Formats: sequence, C-alpha cells, structure tokens
Amino acid sequence: MRIDLHTHSAVSDGTDSPAALLAAAAGAGLDVVALTDHDTTDGWETARLARPAGLTVVPGMELSCRWFPADQPPISVHLLAYLFDPEHPALLAERTRLREERLTRGEQFVANLASAGYPVDWQRIVAASGGGVVGRPHIARDLVQGGVVESVDAAFATLLNHRSPHYVAKADTDVRDGIALVRAAGGVPVFAHGLATKRGRVVGDAAIEAMVDAGLLGLEVDHPDHTEEERAHLRGLAADLGLLTTGSSDYHGSNKVTPIGACLTDPAQYEALLAAGTGCAPFAG
Ligand code: AMP
Ligand code: FE
Ligand code: FE
Ligand code: ZN
Repeated sequence: MRIDLHTHSAVSDGTDSPAALLAAAAGAGLDVVALTDHDTTDGWETARLARPAGLTVVPGMELSCRWFPADQPPISVHLLAYLFDPEHPALLAERTRLREERLTRGEQFVANLASAGYPVDWQRIVAASGGGVVGRPHIARDLVQGGVVESVDAAFATLLNHRSPHYVAKADTDVRDGIALVRAAGGVPVFAHGLATKRGRVVGDAAIEAMVDAGLLGLEVDHPDHTEEERAHLRGLAADLGLLTTGSSDYHGSNKVTPIGACLTDPAQYEALLAAGTGCAPFAG
C-alpha cells in the first residue's frame, strides 16, 4: 500500500485542480491520498466526484495555527485534520475566520511590497487564485510573473520570508483550540512538519506534550522538510507519547519541486488513523 496523507490542490495553494491531483496520485501508483488544503474543505466534493476507481481519498485539511511560548513571539504551526465532520459548526466558523484573516493579511502584505516599489497587485492575485484560499505562494507567483524573482522558491527565500521587512503575520488559531475543535468534530489531529527547522522557529517537546494533553493524536514524521535527525526525534516522541506517525509529500503541484508520493505513511499507522476518525468516511470503492 502506498499512502500519501498531505497534499494541496488549487483550492488552496497548490496548482492542480482536485481532479488533476487525484489523477497524479493514481499515476504515481498511490493507493491512498489525503486532500489537505489549507483552511478549507471546498475541494472535498469535487474530489469525491473525480476520484479514479481504486484510489481511496481521505478528506482532510491543514489548519493554520500558532503556539504561544511564554518567552518568545508566537510560533506558526500547522495542524493536519482528517475525517472530521465538515458541518461541525465551531470548526466551520474557525476555518471561515482563518480564510478571512488570510485575505486581510495578504492585502496588507501586498500593500507593503507595492509601497516598496514591487510590481504586485492584490486584485490580480485574488483573481489568479480563482476564489480559492489565498496564501504567500499566490503572492510569490505574482512576483515571478512581474520578473522580480526567478521562482516561487526564490520569493520565499527573500521577500516573503518571515524575516522580510514586508512580512505580515496572520492571527492563526491557538493550536490547542484547533486540536480540540478537530476532536469535537470527530477528526484526527496530526501535527504537520513539526520540527521542520528549515521553515523557521519550531516548538520544543514540552509544547508537543501540551498538544497531546489537548487531544493531539499523531505526528507527521516523514516529510520532505524534515532532516533524518528531526524524523528520528519525532519518531521517538511518538513512541513515548503513544501517538500515530504519518509520512507525506506535502505536494503543491508546480509551486514546489516535491513530487506526489515523495514520502509515505506506514499501512498500520493509516489503519490507526482510520479507526480514530469518526466525523466522516474516506471516499473509496
Ligand atoms: P501562508 O500560509 O500564506 O503563510 O504561506 C505558507 C505556505 O507557503 C505554506 O503552507 C507552504 O505551502 C508554502 N511554502 C512555504 N515555503 C515555500 C517554498 N519555498 N516554495 C513554495 N511554497 C512554499
Ligand atoms: Fe501550502
Ligand atoms: Fe504546512
Ligand atoms: Zn501543507
């Protein structure tokens, strides 16, 4: 069984339509793929209808969250959520708030870049997103198209980085609240790329223990942004704390170089995830 539990379509900041993403998953020989767009379930219905026979689709989402350390500014953390009830009112309200927050933040980010002289345009960026969930990758593509940077990756390395003078933070969900919401909706919360130091500051073990107290059920271990040491540390923590572990590509179409299926989840861990998720069922058959 080849299982990839973290991918993004053009409904958020990937470049493939949900149908194209599922075709790519089948083409890569996957048996199971999770669709985990940022802060939305809008791709679920199209994915259900476009699913190639023989491919199981796990409906999911990646929720934008923050951890609040006592002694430093908040740390951005991502929470994968699987098999939750998409109608659960409190979780629905929170992801709606996050998408609105992304629009306010994106507009301010672009205003900062424009006043520094960069040829970016917020209306053009929103139009190019096709009404989907807007994120920094959309701003990055506008910078590439304007000839400011050579690639999305180069935009992230410079102007869009959290150290950039133009950077604007978002008011993301307190991760403990996010975990509680996902559990309340019958879902399985998994801490995404939790030790990916290449993305910025990461939380310590005590924060992960606090997340477990809040109801966290798993850690994403095998992820393209994790080093071998980071994976080993997370695997040890998962064993100590009784958490399930996942592996995934975090595929974003042509916005990133990682191919779908680049990292995979162990079938026994996938079974544990299926057993824990009660808010909805995978799309299968
Ligand atoms: P945002 O959610 O708007 O803060 O943007 C963060 C998103 O940008 C992450 O979810 C990643 O999908 C994406 N991202 C981060 N680094 C890169 C990169 N180097 N190239 C392309 N996309 C990236
Ligand atoms: Fe993303
Ligand atoms: Fe993420
Ligand atoms: Zn992701």
